[in-house]
Amino acid sequence: MCGNTRLKLTLRLRDRNLMTCPDCGVKSTDRVGETAEIADYYTEVQAHHGKADGDAVEEGSGPLAAIARGQADWIEDLCGPRRFGSFLEVGCSRGHLLEEMEVRGWTVSGIDVSRSSTEEARTRCKDAAVYCGQPGDPDAPFAPESFDRMAMYDVLAHLVDPKDTLRKAAAYLKPGGHLVMSSCNESWTLVPWMLRAFALFPKRTADLRDEMYEGQHYCYFSIDNIGRLLEEVGLELVRVEPLQPLSTRYFVHQYSPKRRFALLAMVRLDRMLGSSRKMLVLARKPGRAVGSSSPT
Ligand SMILES: [Zn+2]
Repeated sequence: MCGNTRLKLTLRLRDRNLMTCPDCGVKSTDRVGETAEIADYYTEVQAHHGKADGDAVEEGSGPLAAIARGQADWIEDLCGPRRFGSFLEVGCSRGHLLEEMEVRGWTVSGIDVSRSSTEEARTRCKDAAVYCGQPGDPDAPFAPESFDRMAMYDVLAHLVDPKDTLRKAAAYLKPGGHLVMSSCNESWTLVPWMLRAFALFPKRTADLRDEMYEGQHYCYFSIDNIGRLLEEVGLELVRVEPLQPLSTRYFVHQYSPKRRFALLAMVRLDRMLGSSRKMLVLARKPGRAVGSSSPT
């Protein structure tokens, strides 16, 4: 993030390394996927983030709709109870949150790299402008400074160039507008302990390590450095707090007993420590839109 290229090796993963920047503390992997490959991945694996565990994920009224209600509630909790205006979700996946926000009175738009997901989102939300691609693409149908609120749930860690993508996404936000996002939190109390365990017992901890650092995640921010990222893309940090992963509430029944036990034990420990593997972030674009009634 800060431009320092002398990164410190933190952990060896299966076919790449996890590196830490000694200056800003951001962790990243030394190998990332090609943009086209990544789009293909998300097109083939529609329900990412472990949401594909088992085939029990139902359409419509299933856990994804429940998660969307939770995510919409976070937006109202953080930004205020307003139920009108223009809303953009970056990484809208199959459109469950777009649908929920539409029900709540918002004019909704979405953007995602997955062709199959955006197709499904268009079917789910007939009036939504859903674009398949990346923020800042020349053919993206969104005007600069045109959205009152934006959400970016569990997207940040997947970005190959987080600063660039976030800057381009932030350009769509009106002055005074809000961005709500969630991501992994490397300030989690257990991270140093886990890194030590991963290094000492690589075989026995492989499953947990994979869950934390493998897959489609390329960069890891924290409660301590997310403000700097926001500042560099022209946003200001309003609030950041630990967030209990929604998967622990909505998908835990699909996990194996061993994994379920580990996950629930972790949630309990988190509550005691007041910390969490994930964080919920509220950012604001400086300035005030003319005629804006957005709460600040
Ligand atoms: Zn750095």
